[in-house]
Amino acid sequence: MSTTDVVQLNGATISVDTNTLAAFIGAIITPDDSVYDEARQVWNATIDRTPGLIVRPTGSADVQAAVRFASTHDLLVSVKGGGHNIAGSAVCEGGLMIDLSMMRSVRVFPEERRVSVQGGALLGDVDHETQAFGLAVPLGINSTTGVGGLALGGGFGWLSRAFGHTADNILAMDVVTPDGAFHHATAEQNADLFWALRGGSGNFGVVTSFDFKCHPVDPSFLSGPVVHRLQDAKSVLTEYRRLALTLPDEATCWTVLRKAPPLPFLKESDHGQTVLILAMTYAGDIESGERALAPLREIGSPIGDGVSPHPYAGWQAAFDPLVAPRARNYWKSHDFVDLNDSVIDLMVEAAQSLPSNECEIFTAQLGGAAGRVAPDQIAFPHRGHNFTMNIHGRWQDQTQDDECIEWVRRLFEIAGAHATGSVYVNFVPEIEDGRAVGPYGANQKRLEGIKRSVDPQNRFRSNINIAPACG
Ligand code: FAD
Repeated sequence: MSTTDVVQLNGATISVDTNTLAAFIGAIITPDDSVYDEARQVWNATIDRTPGLIVRPTGSADVQAAVRFASTHDLLVSVKGGGHNIAGSAVCEGGLMIDLSMMRSVRVFPEERRVSVQGGALLGDVDHETQAFGLAVPLGINSTTGVGGLALGGGFGWLSRAFGHTADNILAMDVVTPDGAFHHATAEQNADLFWALRGGSGNFGVVTSFDFKCHPVDPSFLSGPVVHRLQDAKSVLTEYRRLALTLPDEATCWTVLRKAPPLPFLKESDHGQTVLILAMTYAGDIESGERALAPLREIGSPIGDGVSPHPYAGWQAAFDPLVAPRARNYWKSHDFVDLNDSVIDLMVEAAQSLPSNECEIFTAQLGGAAGRVAPDQIAFPHRGHNFTMNIHGRWQDQTQDDECIEWVRRLFEIAGAHATGSVYVNFVPEIEDGRAVGPYGANQKRLEGIKRSVDPQNRFRSNINIAPACG
């Protein structure tokens, strides 16, 4: 008999026989295994949890066996997609971690403009396959992020203003619910579960496969950064916020205040200086894109302009070097309808005291098609804001923890007065009190009701949790 200690939902530790999981085609990893320390790691190095048991299923049957095993033994359970969640919810302390990293296959059905994606795939896996057919799904902006966590939390990136959030583009899902049962969920079949999964952030089971709607996106994609000096940031952002609200849905422009990376079109003396980057894209033909982005590129006196047609999948990976795994990270985020003068002042002031070379203030532009969906259409509720600011504390040295976290919290707190009070569940580093709206917004109650019927014991609680409705 081969046993290992695993923590239960009630906090007690029991010894379980791992041989009973021998049906797994994939791997079973315990703390005695040499790969254990690597297997328990997630993207954010501040997360240091030690699961009692890690399993790597290769398909729905394996996932069912793992979930049933957890249910039989009342084990604490977590699910790892790409492991990028800032709160580290993929890995639980002492419990059973179901790591989907061996489930990354992607199959495109070009004639139907549909793609089937296994629950552990990364964004780059999907872009690689869909782009072979001149198609794309609206995903996030970093190719190593997991599709699972991103899509189940909402998901937005360069294509969202044109085609909606990632979750808006889900056509169907295969799900293993917390009781170990397998379901196919669509708008017609298991409709409540289908609704709740699209924004309910991992609270309702393990999605083993997603079907997404694809959109035509030419592999030659107009995109790139325009870089300004920090001293011009206020005037550039003031003009940006006006223009942003006039852009067609195909055009998107995010802003980043950070130390300049060594971009080839910048002078070497500008590398490492604090700058404002306008990162812009156009999801359509290059000529129309040149016209639509021209006003943004003409703002002020940029020190560099790298906007040109780039391979779409390459652009999707353009930010990867800035967000490589295993740095220490702490994020706080606000949604804004408008970037008013005070918010711009606060962002620029905070950028003057970046506590590390990797800290940044990111502002995503939303609206367009993503904003025209009714807030209760799917579980993802937040449709009324045009900008999401993510204050991205990032550093390497543990001795800088307090300084960097304090920098993030300071801007978060003073900017809060101008924000909507809502927050994107995938940008939440911890349970937050005091939000006016919170991650699930007006959909919270319906989600609690569905949680009660799908997961009455709240077995899937390693997430930004939705507690089952009472009685
Ligand atoms: P994980 O940590 O593996 O999982 C996150 C949560 O989802 C966990 O609760 C997990 O249990 C659950 N989960 C994951 N897969 C499944 C599944 N198949 N079935 C059931 N539950 C599952 N978000 C955006 O919207 N746009 C962006 O552009 C963007 N950029 C990012 C860039 C970086 C560098 C990082 C670190 C994050 C970014 N995010 C972005 C946030 C991202 O959406 C979240 O971190 C998300 O949780 C990542 O999903 P994951 O599968 O990698 O995470």
